[in-house]
Amino acid sequence: MNAHVNAPANSRANSAAHDRPQDHDAHVHPHDHRRLGRELDLFDTDPLMGSGLPYWLPGGAAVRHTLEEFIRGRERRAGYRHVYSPVLGKRELYEISGHWAHYRDDMYPPMRLGSEEMVLRPSLCPHHALIYRSRSHSYRELPLRMAELGGMYRSELSGVLGGLTRVRAIQLNDAHVFCTPEQAADEAVAALELIREAHRALGIVPVRYRLSLPGEGGKYVADPALWERAVALLTEVLERSGVPFEAAEGEAAFYGPKIDVQIADGAGREFTLSTVQIDFHQPERFGLHYIGPDGAKHRPVMVHRSVIGSVERVVAYLIERYAGAFPAWLAPTQIVFLPISEAELPQAERLRERCFDLGLRAEVAGPEHGSLGARIREARLVPYQAVIGAKEAVDERVALRLRDGRRLDPLPAEEALVRIGALAAACSGELWEDVPGC
Ligand SMILES: [Zn+2]
Repeated sequence: MNAHVNAPANSRANSAAHDRPQDHDAHVHPHDHRRLGRELDLFDTDPLMGSGLPYWLPGGAAVRHTLEEFIRGRERRAGYRHVYSPVLGKRELYEISGHWAHYRDDMYPPMRLGSEEMVLRPSLCPHHALIYRSRSHSYRELPLRMAELGGMYRSELSGVLGGLTRVRAIQLNDAHVFCTPEQAADEAVAALELIREAHRALGIVPVRYRLSLPGEGGKYVADPALWERAVALLTEVLERSGVPFEAAEGEAAFYGPKIDVQIADGAGREFTLSTVQIDFHQPERFGLHYIGPDGAKHRPVMVHRSVIGSVERVVAYLIERYAGAFPAWLAPTQIVFLPISEAELPQAERLRERCFDLGLRAEVAGPEHGSLGARIREARLVPYQAVIGAKEAVDERVALRLRDGRRLDPLPAEEALVRIGALAAACSGELWEDVPGC
């Protein structure tokens, strides 16, 4: 994915070999995200849309939306500003960026449109470079942190049908920091810290940090001095961050080295989720500059970084990590109201409305869905199950059952919903404990 999330070139061979056991259902382990994705109505694929092109069902879309807003919120707090840019561009754009020369095998073939050739983009960097270039910038505006959760495309020859881990259309959590060479290390350290914070909130545990260096062959841009400088900076960043790391040759982006945060999926296969890169190449290619204190033009550095990688990959990981029982703030349905009889339905529906006001995702499962026991079993992955009997309806109370098996004494409905809303807003991993500061 381009460059950002997976190493180009030899990664395809590696991931193909790694993915093979998953292709046979006999080897699928119980928490395989493809199985759970189908069972829990999170996402699916259709041969007519094409393999490697999953669509998101309402439950999966709710998880994804929450995750996207979570990451945008963290980015805003870290000084990023968000943009949108188109998912395709003229072939010349990728010739300038170097993707056409170094990454073409992973790109879709151009589409002819009149006298132009349009290409589905293999990465967001060239668009962001153009957005930067469209306005003049003083050194006082730097570092300028530009973020986008945007689509990009990869021409996998055989997308693995039914999964989110090898896809042909990718939504990337991406950003580019345009800064002075002196600011680059600090920005990369801050990006790594943002990654670590987001991982903590999501319960993601990295298996290792990798300093990805170029390997043999002509797939990397040639400029030994720039590579040396970027590698020295990233090494400094890793050392300052105090994380143990290993160097790996042949895993760099074509335009520069990168720090890859490696994660293992449910079956123990390792993949790259988050990255930080320092790039001297694309600012040069696009002729980017800022006006320095001396009034002259200077070349900025681009720090590329992705906090949670592709939305597809990270959701696949989270499905397996939690076996479908997402933390309450991420759960497709956060609370289900279970009226014991028809008589309590109006109260259940009023409380669902109140949940919407509080920003919570709520459902009502009435007696038409079966016995109370059957409805509770059906809702076993929902963090909060609120049983409403005749007495609770009159008193405006709910009897809460938590997903972990705890049962709480009936309490005022408003108090319960406000507490659940506060826990969700704090992205808490707890179901009922005190709301932490967040
Ligand atoms: Zn980039």
